[in-house]
Amino acid sequence: MNGQHFDIAIVGAGINGASAAQHLSAAGYRVLVVDQGDFANGATSRSSRLLHCGLRHLANGSSIYRMMLRPDKLLKSLGTVRADMLARDEIVDSIPERVRAMNFCLPIYRDDPYTPWHMDAAFAMLRMASPKGVPLDYRRYRANQLDQVPVGPWLRDPDRLRSVAVFREYVFDWPERIALDALFDARRMGAEVHNYIQVQALVRDDAKGHWRLTLQEVLQECRAHEVTATVALNLAGAWVDRVIGRTGRNAPQKCQGIKGIHIAVQLPPEFADWGVFNYNSLGEPLYCLPWRGIHYVGLTRTPHKGDATGVFATDQEIDWMLAETNRCLPKLGLSRADVLYSWAGVNPLTHDEEMPLGSREIKIHNLSADGIEGMFTLTGGPIMTHRRVANRLLECLRPGFPPSGPEQELSYRSEGSFGLGDKGGVASLNAKVLRAAISHCAQHENPASLADLMMRRLGLGWNADQGQELAEQVAREAAPHLGWSEERTVSEINTFRDHLARYRRKPSGS
Ligand SMILES: Cc1cc2nc3c(=O)[nH]c(=O)nc-3n(C[C@H](O)[C@H](O)[C@H](O)COP(=O)(O)OP(=O)(O)OC[C@H]3O[C@@H](n4cnc5c(N)ncnc54)[C@H](O)[C@@H]3O)c2cc1C
Repeated sequence: MNGQHFDIAIVGAGINGASAAQHLSAAGYRVLVVDQGDFANGATSRSSRLLHCGLRHLANGSSIYRMMLRPDKLLKSLGTVRADMLARDEIVDSIPERVRAMNFCLPIYRDDPYTPWHMDAAFAMLRMASPKGVPLDYRRYRANQLDQVPVGPWLRDPDRLRSVAVFREYVFDWPERIALDALFDARRMGAEVHNYIQVQALVRDDAKGHWRLTLQEVLQECRAHEVTATVALNLAGAWVDRVIGRTGRNAPQKCQGIKGIHIAVQLPPEFADWGVFNYNSLGEPLYCLPWRGIHYVGLTRTPHKGDATGVFATDQEIDWMLAETNRCLPKLGLSRADVLYSWAGVNPLTHDEEMPLGSREIKIHNLSADGIEGMFTLTGGPIMTHRRVANRLLECLRPGFPPSGPEQELSYRSEGSFGLGDKGGVASLNAKVLRAAISHCAQHENPASLADLMMRRLGLGWNADQGQELAEQVAREAAPHLGWSEERTVSEINTFRDHLARYRRKPSGS
């Protein structure tokens, strides 16, 4: 890499960096993409993984009256709803193996901000946004028809329940793999794609019209590289303001990081393939989602300052999440002992002075407005719209910075299906398939540790047992490909277990 020139240097290989690398390479740009950690280890691997149909913009917990008071915001929301529905169609059609459908159940109570007819109207709008797209399968049950909804008997306050809305929603399984597939497709088209390389400094050479980037190898501290790039694309998620700071120039805050946690729990059999969408005691959405034979529940929303690396769910946050889950589904009576694991992430939302919890507006900032030429950044870009964001970036770049090479054909084919991770567990796993998958990932996908393999390459770390049963087998299978000695292999297994205990922890005393 040292001394090379790129059309575009992308800082951050989360879902947005990965998708941008793929789409910009296809448009003919010579692209470099680097991540200071493993690919997709930031917010992309820590989300609720929902492929939202857009309902959250129409039923976000605010009353209809409050929404009407801000017609500008309402209009914006309607535009976002349409964009979300189209993104949903595109993703379900093009990578069906990377999403799982579920029945999402939304109870409507007497004191809720929405009445049953509001919900009917919201779904009519969603349908209008994409009349021929992936069906919503919306139906609504009256309180006396709860026997037709398997999770109905578990809902709180049956005497105050007016109705239950049920619709088809999807979760990504698993988003890190979508990012990896995009990155390796970009690499196939000529992009330089590197993990564990941190952008330490970006110096603008206005005379030459390019950036000089100092790149530090994170795993080998003595190795650094210098490259130049015409454009710097700052897609560093919750770190975008820090990356701007590394230019030595000042710019107003762009991102508002919001910390969110989830807990994974085993629920009764009636919940199989059913999710529950409710409002917590703060009036914010609470999601309880089916996942590989278990469920996870989220989320908290706390403004986060400081580095987003290494965040984890504290006991206090887990207790709050348990209390809120028990409030919505009291018969579950969940306690700390029921938490299989937890995780936390920082959502890179858009900074807005008026909104302490950030704005969900997907914003591309051209930093020339702040006197920093040739740098663009993104805030508020969720997983589900990554392709739209990549195309918007392309539209922003092409007029001022034409690509240096010819266009190429990109592919959304999912390399990493492997048939793994479905319900998890050794018994259901075909040993030959697993061996082939490990060997492919170890040789071609730059894992630096067992955690990289388990969590992001193979997705096994997301099973109910967090892949503990398979960890040793995976390490031993990967060892010869990665040149790991016996000592290193054992150390990788222990480090992976430490990683789970620290970042995907069970609460104390459980
Ligand atoms: C709790 C939670 C729930 C969410 N729920 C959903 C949901 O249900 N559906 C949905 O679509 N979205 C959801 N999101 C939002 C979504 O996860 C994020 O918006 C999205 O993943 C952001 O992707 P990104 O690529 O922009 O950032 P990230 O995935 O954070 O990637 C940024 C990358 O930049 C790297 N980086 C930072 N600084 C440097 C540097 N100096 N040099 C090199 N690399 C650097 C980081 O290591 C990181 O990997 C949720 C997020 C959270 C936290």
